Amino acid sequence: MSSDELRRRIEYFKDLGVKDLYKREAAAPVTAVAPIAPAPEVVLPSLVPAGDSLVQIGEDIGDCKRCRLHEGRNKIVFGTGNPEAKLVFVGEGPGADEDAQGLPFVGRAGQLLTQMIEGTAKKEGIPLQRDDVYICNVVKCRPPDNRTPEADEMEICGQFLFRQLQVIHPKAICALGSTAAKALLGGRDGVTKLRGKWHKWHDIPLIVTFHPSYLLRAYNVEAKREAWEDLKKALHFVYD
Ligand code: URA
Repeated sequence: MSSDELRRRIEYFKDLGVKDLYKREAAAPVTAVAPIAPAPEVVLPSLVPAGDSLVQIGEDIGDCKRCRLHEGRNKIVFGTGNPEAKLVFVGEGPGADEDAQGLPFVGRAGQLLTQMIEGTAKKEGIPLQRDDVYICNVVKCRPPDNRTPEADEMEICGQFLFRQLQVIHPKAICALGSTAAKALLGGRDGVTKLRGKWHKWHDIPLIVTFHPSYLLRAYNVEAKREAWEDLKKALHFVYD
């Protein structure tokens, strides 16, 4: 990596609130031949600054203008719920209601999500309310006309999502829809391909299911049944 590129990357991480940048000497290669002195390897920081917390992440986001999404937003939608939740739901980005209230999943899709969480838990004999889980999004500002977030917006804001997930470190993550799945798993596969089985985000088991907005469309009866199955699987894994 050139020194200019390195400087840019360090600035980028500092912008994101990552303060502890450090250098690690590369291990000497194991070889019988006298080695050429290895160049020191510069290691970019882990996603979590030392002593990170949700409060710190919120402060680092601040009055964020790092991407174009800030231009149309009313409120940053950071996330809500139990900061020590065993289960975290990740959506795509705020809609109009969320942008107005500064809270995720409070509109129609949010009401369905609440019903899904509380209804499935009740049916399965698991005492669980929406407030017991944590809910957040890939991007924290509403995309104009509810369009899908662009790759650069997801990359910039995704760093904060990753820090939230590392700090909470739940027993499982549920990615709602293909944007959340893409942000957390990479790749191009859609929900139909990814759902129904466990994946991993770092060391945390992750399940993908349909976004509640998709389920609100009347013809998605089969998808609804599958989403309930996915949720059942996640709830039993986490709370049994
Ligand atoms: N859709 C999302 O993906 N997130 C919200 O917070 C609301 C709707």
